[in-house]
Amino acid sequence: MSITSELIEFCHKVYEKGYVAAYDGNLSVRLDSERILITRSGICKGNVTEDDLVEIDYEGNVLNGSGKASTESKIHLLAYKNRKEINAVVHCHPIHATAFASLGEGFTQPIFPEVILSLGKVPLCKYATPSTDQLPNSMRPHIDYAWAMLLENHGAVSFGKNIKGAYFRMEKLEHAAQILFVARSIGRERKIPLLKLKELYDIAESTYGIKIDKKSRMDF
Ligand SMILES: [Zn+2]
Repeated sequence: MSITSELIEFCHKVYEKGYVAAYDGNLSVRLDSERILITRSGICKGNVTEDDLVEIDYEGNVLNGSGKASTESKIHLLAYKNRKEINAVVHCHPIHATAFASLGEGFTQPIFPEVILSLGKVPLCKYATPSTDQLPNSMRPHIDYAWAMLLENHGAVSFGKNIKGAYFRMEKLEHAAQILFVARSIGRERKIPLLKLKELYDIAESTYGIKIDKKSRMDF
């Protein structure tokens, strides 16, 4: 499957999953050191075709395709410019994750072992006016380590080595947010004890070869 058809597939998927409504959200992949393929602005992700994708350079100028690049391309550019291992970016407004973002809460506490291993710490980026430079600037303190971020009063963004990886992080984030939402409706979640958290990090490294960066470790 070509990188273009893969990007289209995951555009449809975020809409089907309800992670975006109407024209919300934007997805992109890095093509090479000069070009990024991104959804154009003002389209429903559920109906994206090849004609709805534009190629932009690392300054956000359109190189190929018709229409304007997504208004949130600055989110994507910040990630690609700062992390060479990131090759795909997904930005959505999933209901539960965005609800936590509107409460001003990131996912920085150790609650679910699998989430800790697959997403690491999910920081909250301070509220910023969409489409301005405030938005990438709000992500800047966390861009060197995070694989997913919550944007205060706005939504979520996830990164991947490929589009599938970025999408699955978004799915995992929204799933965790949904569980936490249910937990809070019947009580209060409990944190994994510090000793067990350390054990988890040790096992992650020795058994799965997952090295968890110091900054990615959960707050305690
Ligand atoms: Zn948005």
